[in-house]
Amino acid sequence: METAKWMEQAEEAILHTYNRFPVVLDHGEGVYLYDTEGKKYLDFAAGIGVQALGYGNQKYNDALKMQIDKLLHTSNLYYNQPIIEAAEKLCKASGLDRVFFTNSGTEAIEGAIKAAKKYAYDRDGTTDHEIIAMEQSFHGRSLGALAVTGNAHYREPFEPLPGIVKFAKYNNLQSVSDLVNDKTCAILMETIQGEGGIYPAQEEFLAGVKQICQAHDILLILDEIQCGMGRTGTMFAWQEYGVKPDIMACAKALGCGVPVGAFVMTKRVADSSLKPGDHGTTYGGNPFVGAAVSKVLDLFEEQRILEHVQEISGYLKERLEELAAEYSCIMARRGRGLMQGLELKSAVPAGEVSAKALEQGLILITAGNNVLRFIPPLVIEQEHVDEMAAILGNVLREYHP
Ligand SMILES: *Cc1c(COP(=O)(O)O)cnc(C)c1O
Repeated sequence: METAKWMEQAEEAILHTYNRFPVVLDHGEGVYLYDTEGKKYLDFAAGIGVQALGYGNQKYNDALKMQIDKLLHTSNLYYNQPIIEAAEKLCKASGLDRVFFTNSGTEAIEGAIKAAKKYAYDRDGTTDHEIIAMEQSFHGRSLGALAVTGNAHYREPFEPLPGIVKFAKYNNLQSVSDLVNDKTCAILMETIQGEGGIYPAQEEFLAGVKQICQAHDILLILDEIQCGMGRTGTMFAWQEYGVKPDIMACAKALGCGVPVGAFVMTKRVADSSLKPGDHGTTYGGNPFVGAAVSKVLDLFEEQRILEHVQEISGYLKERLEELAAEYSCIMARRGRGLMQGLELKSAVPAGEVSAKALEQGLILITAGNNVLRFIPPLVIEQEHVDEMAAILGNVLREYHP
């Protein structure tokens, strides 16, 4: 009853841009969430890849509480200690050199695009530069981020969108090189496509794109917003490919629940792109998010998160493969590390499966064209993988009479 009442109130007050699951979440502990009626859910979505450390990490919570009592916000007209430390740690973790903190992933993409355009402008003195992005990509909902998002459904009502953007086929190097001309200033892609349906870049593809970029002084921008921050067993997914971007966008797990993103670049790009006055933000990189990012990066080391992901992700893959072998409605398993997808036959709608899983106490979301998406907190253990597989098996059994 209580849930229905909250839902009714929500629809009266909140703009209806989401069809939400009929659950009011109340609190979390470890890898479990609880709703306002006390029902417990195993969380395999992590707030869309945000809650890497799970819920109720005491050291993280304490660091935030201390910073709240000390100083929340200063504006970027002044220095603050927590964000300087956070930036240093992010540079060290990425091997990149200069950070700009934003309030979201979308804004990190916006900033990365501006940096690439400014780089080309300073070099050529012209403004009509082009960006190559990928089909089926997702980079955010602002006009700039939408302009590079390869999904007609999201884009259409808002066209024309800013900038000159051309879309290549992901994992098809020829289709990228066909679009390159002397106006191309950046090639932008997710290292692993998330919303589009969990498609990892192929090694040769990413290496090939990097070569094209180097040959033509084009900047490689990698969107690591979903696949970064340890999700694949390295701090950033590109580190496993050995292909370093000129600019990287990150967000989601960067703050583990505090709204923060960042675009991070090499010194070479920093020295010849955005200068004082070219970009800014009121909130971005305030002491509060600084304390969060700084603590998250510390805890990743302290809790050996990368090692844990390397260990546990093999087990997740194994159990997903078992499900795929058992249920013929599963057409494919894809992904890397703790970013996995199961593509289902169209007769078995992924949205329906995820709704039924929720009823049975498993939070599971979808992606792309009928894909179940597995992006749990990075701190899951084997028993949680087993619990997930048992519930999902129960649900899928209904489709296999
Ligand atoms: C979530 C996401 C974004 C947008 O981030 P927001 O924080 O929602 O603005 C951009 N790119 C990718 C790959 C994402 O997964």
